[in-house]
Amino acid sequence: MTKRLWFNLAAVTAVAEHAASCNQFRAFGAAGRRPCLLVDTAGGGRIGSNGRSDTPSPAWLPASYVDGREERHEPTPAVLLPLTDPDPQPWSEPSLLDVLRAGVHRRMHWFTIEVASNGAVTHTVVASRQRVDLPADVSWVPAHVAAGELGPYPAQIAAGYHRPGGSAFARFTRDVAWWIALDIRHLPRSRQPGEAIRVVDEQVRRMPPAAGGERANADVGEADGWWRIDGPAWPWTVADHDEYDAPPEPSLTQTWGPDGDQERCVVCHAVDDLDHDEMPSMVGYGHDTWTRCRRCGSTETTDPMFGIRVHPAPWPPPRARQTELDRDAPTIRRRP
Ligand SMILES: [Zn+2]
Repeated sequence: MTKRLWFNLAAVTAVAEHAASCNQFRAFGAAGRRPCLLVDTAGGGRIGSNGRSDTPSPAWLPASYVDGREERHEPTPAVLLPLTDPDPQPWSEPSLLDVLRAGVHRRMHWFTIEVASNGAVTHTVVASRQRVDLPADVSWVPAHVAAGELGPYPAQIAAGYHRPGGSAFARFTRDVAWWIALDIRHLPRSRQPGEAIRVVDEQVRRMPPAAGGERANADVGEADGWWRIDGPAWPWTVADHDEYDAPPEPSLTQTWGPDGDQERCVVCHAVDDLDHDEMPSMVGYGHDTWTRCRRCGSTETTDPMFGIRVHPAPWPPPRARQTELDRDAPTIRRRP
């Protein structure tokens, strides 16, 4: 069986950057002339830098997880993985240092070392590790998530982990939980998720419909104002990571979808959910246009004289508007 060591990619990349910044290297042969990752595959596994400079070397980085184990019993020699290519050619594979940097840039989370039973060592950059429960030290990162007809919603997802089946661990603010609850109530019963959400004052509750009544679900944790809503009833997938890039042109919509033939609201991320109208302009020539997002109520108007104006609606909606919408929504019927 292959042994697989899982290292935090950002931490490995920091070790690699240290090695690449040095001009003296500790190793035998050719590896003694180039920056390398020094991999100790025995036991729990660890990674170090072979570089030496005036600044202290980084400490050995222990593996976060070890899957499987070696079947060989002789001591495993340290493995040196060269980080740079001393003689790159146009047809060369990218260097390991470039692979690591690109992985960090693409929000990958893990660097894994696979040790085959014949001792051969390979390595891979991996986005996410499957887990049933999250470790205590998980970091939460902003993203938009969607599940079937629900969403996308602003959320935080657990960086580097996914649930069995591939869905994201996700948590939401109280206001977004309220918005999800409202969206569920507007779905026909047959297309609603297996759990309902109820927001009572500042509390978020999950209610399995089979339970019939209100019952706070113990595994909805609340931490720092974020409520965990995930599990088998919530197959959240990441709709997009939040980039925080200002759009180059002020516009309510951006092109979206694999073929770019959809329009997405930049405020609430609803896709192809827009009302549009236009009429001869009051200024006497051309047309005035009006576009409104059905989901969040943001509008965009254009006229031939002043051009485009965007009026973003607050998102998530403020409490007063929530109450208004809540009153209009059909009430949850309790099962007998
Ligand atoms: Zn919108």
